[in-house]
Amino acid sequence: MAFDAIVIGTGFGGTIAAVQLAAKGKSVLLLERGTFWRSPDPIGLNSGDPFGDWAKTNKMPVQYWPRPDHRKGLLDFAAALRNLHKFGLYQYSTFNQADVLTASGVGGGSLIYSNVSIPSVKAARDRIGLNISDADYAAARLWMEGPHGDRKSANRGWLNYVVTKIPLGKDMTATDFVNLGVDPAKPPMEQDKDEAYLLLDRSRVLRMAAKQVSQKLGVPMEWNPLELSLLEYDGYKNTAAIKDSDSVPAHTHCERQGRCILGCLPQARHTLNKTLFKKVLQKPGVTLMPKCKVLQIKQKPGGYDVVFDDEFTGNGETTASAPKVFLAGGVLGSTEILLRSKKRNTLPLSAALGTKFSTNGDFGGFAYKTTKPDKTVLPCYTTRGPINTSHVSMNFNGRFIRIEDCAVPSMFAEFTSKALEVLDDAGASPNFFQLMGAAWQSNLGEHLFEVPNTVDPKNFQTEAEMLVDTFFFNVMGQDEATGKLKLGGLDGDQLDLGWEAPIAQQKLWADIETMLREFSSAMGGRFIDLPTWQGLLGKKKLVVVHPLGGCPIGSTHEDGVVDEFGQVFDASKPAASKAVLPGLYVVDGAAIPGALAANPSLTISAQALKSVTNALV
Ligand SMILES: Cc1cc2nc3c(=O)[nH]c(=O)nc-3n(C[C@H](O)[C@H](O)[C@H](O)COP(=O)(O)OP(=O)(O)OC[C@H]3O[C@@H](n4cnc5c(N)ncnc54)[C@H](O)[C@@H]3O)c2cc1C
Ligand code: SF4
Repeated sequence: MAFDAIVIGTGFGGTIAAVQLAAKGKSVLLLERGTFWRSPDPIGLNSGDPFGDWAKTNKMPVQYWPRPDHRKGLLDFAAALRNLHKFGLYQYSTFNQADVLTASGVGGGSLIYSNVSIPSVKAARDRIGLNISDADYAAARLWMEGPHGDRKSANRGWLNYVVTKIPLGKDMTATDFVNLGVDPAKPPMEQDKDEAYLLLDRSRVLRMAAKQVSQKLGVPMEWNPLELSLLEYDGYKNTAAIKDSDSVPAHTHCERQGRCILGCLPQARHTLNKTLFKKVLQKPGVTLMPKCKVLQIKQKPGGYDVVFDDEFTGNGETTASAPKVFLAGGVLGSTEILLRSKKRNTLPLSAALGTKFSTNGDFGGFAYKTTKPDKTVLPCYTTRGPINTSHVSMNFNGRFIRIEDCAVPSMFAEFTSKALEVLDDAGASPNFFQLMGAAWQSNLGEHLFEVPNTVDPKNFQTEAEMLVDTFFFNVMGQDEATGKLKLGGLDGDQLDLGWEAPIAQQKLWADIETMLREFSSAMGGRFIDLPTWQGLLGKKKLVVVHPLGGCPIGSTHEDGVVDEFGQVFDASKPAASKAVLPGLYVVDGAAIPGALAANPSLTISAQALKSVTNALV
């Protein structure tokens, strides 16, 4: 099998590479270890089911999102775990000091991410030596949204704020806006943030807490809604002259279901499987092979052999070759492939391979039993969507910290509320599992017989009520990127992640916990750490959803694996040499050399677009 280019992985970096290559008419092989995932009953289709028909014709493996939006959905969720099912959607990788959650499927992390598309602050990029400019971000945004008035050129769709209970209506006149305190000439978010929007409860709670904590500690803080890559109702953008609405032709928009990380049933998210289907997969020169895990890459004259395990056609170990190879398997995937290639001496790679792994300062925790000063419930309604809606940014003790509100999808509501009850009583009890078991079993009768009790208001609470007074924090910050990925395990060939000095000792976590205690107290609630950080599952651990690094950008192969355009350094050359292996690129989160303190997908996209554009000149 020979192609102009091979793209490994179909997440943010892989999709950008594939779209740009296909647009140039190149023959491309896309190798993805996972399958397609979608809603079982696709709504929003105005003419049949083009993707479904294409998938059937091409014998593509398709699976369906976990569905029931109550505790029974947990079974679907368990079935989608790659740890239990080889072609599952969620990959939960367990290491000594941190666990890492990533996705496996056509569309990569976009399938399970919460749509937040924001740039990092420049100071954070400068600190890690990442040369992404405002122009690079603007290019990535244009790639996603397309030019104004030209919806067909968009590779994804508009970014939107989704913080309202009621979208501002398309029929609103200038006077209506003025009556709402909104200057019609400016976007509403630039107006007085207190008045312009009807915020979701938890967005409002976060904003209120930020105001109080900022005053109390004297730390400047900024609250803002988050830009999300999803369809919001935007019919008012269709005018007689320009059809600029995304949601009208898609026949759908965000229904606030709060399950973005479990797959959006109304299909309101701009996931990359949609981009790939629209812009890449139907082109004649493109071959997608799902269920194909890449094992290693071998350099050969004029290009590379890519060796993969083909479970799509069932051919087993197979080799394809191309003069250009774009690694986009994500931090864990790309680093693992290169570590194997280095170990087998099939690529001359830098000694920096595996280094500069960053957790992006990922941290979580709860404010429990949020209460107003008058002792009544401070409503957060944590199950309502989208998953993240707003954020507070600050500089605390010399480091940038970002706190976002976070939904708990309804199917986790019962489990989460019971776990919090137990954690609140037990504190850091080593008997967590027994306590959890007891909490779960105490409801066995209810689970088996479901006898309604119309007298007790706590019996048969809705999922929304179960978490009405719980706030879930999603935090990012600037850790030191001192994690190292290497091969280990019994056969010496499994990916392992470790830190020389325990990651838990980095001061960032104490600063974040201090801040979350203050925020919880401002919400009239008690702060509860994640059980993993309390050490209740065996050892004090971080849970990382935004891993970065492993194939870091550097100036030569002495301090990096790739150059600023993602070209892999040739480590067979002298130390100060900037020579690269021609045609071999890393275009995903693995290239980012440290913490961004922001949700990283927009930065990864900007870096990938910069690399691919350079590769295709
Ligand atoms: C629950 C959750 C919520 C998140 N929310 C946000 C958010 O709101 N905003 C944000 O910016 N970021 C978010 N992230 C992080 C974001 O998803 C990642 O940063 C992003 O997906 C990384 O992009 P990537 O291109 O590096 O790799 P990925 O998107 O991870 O893609 C890698 C792809 O390569 C495939 N692959 C891996 N190894 C191989 C192999 N050997 N052979 C073949 N294929 C392989 C994988 O199956 C996958 O499809 C979230 C992450 C999680 C887990
Ligand atoms: S909140 Fe619900 S409807 Fe909106 S994008 Fe998320 S999953 Fe889809």
